[in-house]
Amino acid sequence: MRRFIVAGNWKMNTTKDTGSQLAQALAAEVPKEKTAVEVLVCPPFPYLSTIGDIVNGSGVGFGAQNCYHESPGAFTGEISTEMLSDVGCRSVILGHSERRHILKETDADINLKVKKALDAGLQVVLCVGELQSERESEQTEAVLDTQMTGGLEGVNSAAFDKIVIAYEPVWAIGTGLTATPDQAEAAHQYLRNWLKDHYSAEIADSTRILYGGSVKPDNAKELLSQENVDGALVGGASLKAELFIPIIQAAV
Ligand code: 13P
Repeated sequence: MRRFIVAGNWKMNTTKDTGSQLAQALAAEVPKEKTAVEVLVCPPFPYLSTIGDIVNGSGVGFGAQNCYHESPGAFTGEISTEMLSDVGCRSVILGHSERRHILKETDADINLKVKKALDAGLQVVLCVGELQSERESEQTEAVLDTQMTGGLEGVNSAAFDKIVIAYEPVWAIGTGLTATPDQAEAAHQYLRNWLKDHYSAEIADSTRILYGGSVKPDNAKELLSQENVDGALVGGASLKAELFIPIIQAAV
């Protein structure tokens, strides 16, 4: 049985105050004991410590939205995995479409980060997903194949207890357009088969594959009830407790 994950990617949003209030509301609502859903928030770097202190001891975990692939040193403006671990962070989102398409990260860049984060013992949420034009030209599976192959190059089976895949079709991110449950399920099935072909049936069975792209309280239940959808990576709706909590509840 795969345990659901509902993760909030706050992106470059919140202030120290609004983020703290959001974290407090979630920590108060999410049960402390282990439930069927792992809940995670990923605040901006400057607030990681503050939010970490708030959710510490609660049922809410916290992660980062990026990291650098080198250890501490002369890399102005970058954040090391050691720094993330130092503030109690246990997860990191890598390969998000905004980093791929706006910050021009390549699969090779992402792969270096994936390997560094895994070496540092962090849980990696590796995001993959196609552009609208790629879907329209029936390139979805080819794009997913390239991103999975590139992102996971040199990553061996033993690392998979720390790897989560997030399928985020770029055309559904922040647009209000959601993949239909059938579209999401088809892509997730493709990704699970990919894991079976490139790793093993056991890894394909046990790896969580999250859906992301305009997940809201009113579409969460149907998306999350698809056989191969093991949770959600939520942007906009993770910024309001009254929207994020019903999404968590939809996963139960
Ligand atoms: P939205 O939920 O705002 O579409 O964002 C999804 C996303 O990019 C999560 O990483």
